[in-house]
Amino acid sequence: MTQQLKIAVLPGDGIGPEVMVEALRVLDVIEKRYDCRFERTFANLGGIAIDLEGKAFPQTTIDICRASDAVLLGSVGGPKWEHLPPMEQPERGALLPMRKLFNLYANLRPAIVFPSLTGASSLKKEVLGEGLDILVVRELTGGLYMSQPKGIEGTSPNRIGVDTLRYSEMEIERIARVAFKVARQRRKNLVSVDKANVLASSVLWREILSRLGKEEYPDVTLSHMYVDNASMQLIRNPRQFDVILCENMFGDILSDEASALSGSLGLVPSASLSEGSFGIYEPAGGTAPDIAGRGIANPIAQILSASMMLRYSFSMNDAADAIDAAVTKALEAGYRTGDIFLGGPGEKKVSTVEMGTAIIDGLGR
Ligand code: NAD
Repeated sequence: MTQQLKIAVLPGDGIGPEVMVEALRVLDVIEKRYDCRFERTFANLGGIAIDLEGKAFPQTTIDICRASDAVLLGSVGGPKWEHLPPMEQPERGALLPMRKLFNLYANLRPAIVFPSLTGASSLKKEVLGEGLDILVVRELTGGLYMSQPKGIEGTSPNRIGVDTLRYSEMEIERIARVAFKVARQRRKNLVSVDKANVLASSVLWREILSRLGKEEYPDVTLSHMYVDNASMQLIRNPRQFDVILCENMFGDILSDEASALSGSLGLVPSASLSEGSFGIYEPAGGTAPDIAGRGIANPIAQILSASMMLRYSFSMNDAADAIDAAVTKALEAGYRTGDIFLGGPGEKKVSTVEMGTAIIDGLGR
C-alpha cells in the first residue's frame, strides 16, 4: 500500500521560497521512485506570516504543523522586520515558540565536506583528506540556555547576572539515546562533549552516557572529550569524529564551528526532533537577504533537509541515501552556485533552479 505522509511546508522569507521549490521538486521524484505520497500543506511562518496574518507563528500554522508528520521549513527573518520589538521579530517570534511547542529537544547538524568541494572549506586539504562527514547532536531544550533561575538581579552597582546549567537524568538519557541511535546508523563512533573537570552537570552527563553505552549500546564506541579540546580537535583533526554529542550551549558553538568546515551555509541542513518521529527540518543558514530574489541561492541545504526528513521522520533511508548521492554527483559534475564557485577547472556556475535540476537528473527522473 502506498505510504501517505503529511508534510507542513513553511517556505518562510528571503531565499526560503526559492530553495524550497527545489526541495519539493526532489520530493516529486522520490514519490515516483518509492511507493509513497507526500501530502503537502503550505503555511506562513516568520516575516511573511507577520505581513499576512499579523503574527510570526500564527494559529493556522500551528494547526497545520500539529496535523502533519513532519515540517519542512525554509528560513525566516530579514531587514524588513528588524524595527519590530525583539520578541515579535520573525526568528524569536516563530522559531523559539516552535521549539517549545513541539518539545524539539534534539538538534542534528551534519558538517559535510564533499570531496569535490575540499577547496571551498576553511581547512587545508591535507587536514581534511578526502572529504568529511560529521554529525553534531545538540540538546536543545535544557542546559545553560533554558534552565532557571535566570536573569539580572539587584540594583547597580551590585547587580548580578544569573544563568543556570541544570540537567535531569531523564533529559540526559533522552538526548543520549538519540546520539547512540544515529551513531548506530553511521560509523558507530560517538564522542560525548562535556566539561566534567569543572561542571557538576557534566559529571552526571558523563556517568549516564557511560552507563547507557555499556548496558544498551555496546556496539557503539563511546569516548568523552572536554569541550575546549573538542573545539581544537575539530580544526586540527576533524576526521577522528563521526557523531558528537553536546549540551545546549556547547552544541550551539561546536555545530557552528563544524559547519564552517563545509565551505558555505548553503550546504548545511539541520533537523530538530521531538519524541516519536515528528521533526522540523531546515537549512542551518538564514534568509540571505543579500542574494534573495535573484535566483542564485544554493538549494542544497534545503534539499538535504528534505533528505534528513525522509531519514529521521519517515525511516526512508534508501530514498535519503539516493538524494545525498545525487547531491554528491551534481557537485562532482562541477555544478556550482555562486557561494561555492571557485572558478576551478570543470566548474559551471549555475542558478538555484539549474542546481535543483542537476540533482534531480542525478536521481534519475
Ligand atoms: P545568513 O545565513 O542569511 O547569511 C550569511 C551569508 O551566507 C550571506 O552572505 C548569505 O548570502 C550566505 N548564504 C546563506 N545561505 C545561503 C544559500 N542557501 N546560498 C548561498 N548563500 C547563502 O545570515 P544573516 O545574514 O546573519 O541573517 C539574515 C537573516 O536571516 C536575518 O534576518 C536573520 O535573523 C535570519 N536568520 C534566520 C535563521 C533561521 O531561520 N533559522 C537563521 C539565521 C539567520
